[in-house]
Amino acid sequence: MARTLIVAEIQNGALREATLELVALARKLGGELVSLVIGSEVSGQAETLAKQGGGKVLLADSPKLANYNSDGWADAIQRAVSAEAPDLVLISNTPSGWDVAPKVAAALDAGIITDVFDIENEGDELAFTRRLFNGKFNGRFRITGSPRIATIQPGATAAYEGSDGGSVEPLEIDSAPPRSEFLEIRMAEAGGHDLSKAEIIVSGGRGLAKPENFDAVLKPLVDALGAQMGASRPVVDAGWLPHEYQVGSSGQLVQPKLYVAVGISGAIQHLVGMKSSNYILAINKDPDAPIFEIADLGVVQDLFEFVPKLAAKVKSAKGG
Ligand SMILES: Cc1cc2nc3c(=O)[nH]c(=O)nc-3n(C[C@H](O)[C@H](O)[C@H](O)COP(=O)(O)OP(=O)(O)OC[C@H]3O[C@@H](n4cnc5c(N)ncnc54)[C@H](O)[C@@H]3O)c2cc1C
Repeated sequence: MARTLIVAEIQNGALREATLELVALARKLGGELVSLVIGSEVSGQAETLAKQGGGKVLLADSPKLANYNSDGWADAIQRAVSAEAPDLVLISNTPSGWDVAPKVAAALDAGIITDVFDIENEGDELAFTRRLFNGKFNGRFRITGSPRIATIQPGATAAYEGSDGGSVEPLEIDSAPPRSEFLEIRMAEAGGHDLSKAEIIVSGGRGLAKPENFDAVLKPLVDALGAQMGASRPVVDAGWLPHEYQVGSSGQLVQPKLYVAVGISGAIQHLVGMKSSNYILAINKDPDAPIFEIADLGVVQDLFEFVPKLAAKVKSAKGG
């Protein structure tokens, strides 16, 4: 691999962990690395990235880039591509990444693959891996032409932890005002169900089959353990539980002492949200479910048989 451009993201004034994951992935592939930092008054973050392995860091710094807008970001990325001629452009698979990556690909007439969790050198080619059919298969893809653009699933790679002396150079950007105007960010209310500080979480997935089973089957175990209830995204999308119960890349990031995953397959977007839990117990009837790859203890059984027995055991062990 000759040259990779990574697009950094800043959140709450600091580089996102996902950006250092892009650095790690680009470095694994080898070749030259150029990074792009976009924002307003973000030279400090650009310096940090240069020191944390980002290589040559291009800085697109302007008051009009203070908040994400697709015109400004797409312009900066296209200018970086034309200045640096990368073979590969890596963008995090985050809400702004989803928005800007296809726009840049269309403008450059470049091939794009989204939601990738690994890239490998394959001779002179690159093999991009992403999950298919709800994580039941992994698909490997190639992109023809250059640059190739990929959005990378946050959490798929460990963040780069080395330190290297890079450099920061300004990147000139389009002076025209953006066609969209930033108004405000509205934070969703936690609604009193804040999983981020829970010590024990019992989460249910599509394996619970219907909403009534969250009360009938999962809740007795939640109560016996003194836990909080969580859920996978399909459960929330189906309206069985509110969004504040959702664990994962588009839900809450949790780190309890004990995480019990019940009828959850272990899609990467779910794992991102709970893989830092201290101890993971997974209950799933499919021995090949990806959740078992990160579980400390895996129980291959029908949840409708196992969970009531476990709840009863915990209750009696606690003298209930
Ligand atoms: C951009 C994006 C963001 C996303 N964000 C999130 C996110 O934040 N959180 C999230 O969770 N997902 C997220 N997803 C969705 C994710 O890709 C998966 O589709 C989802 O996590 C699958 O949920 P699940 O494991 O409950 O369902 P499934 O994948 O359908 O798995 C159900 C599991 O239950 C098991 N099962 C079925 N019946 C039983 C039984 N009787 N006993 C025991 N086991 C049983 C099955 O073997 C299966 O493994 C996102 C997807 C995208 C594209």
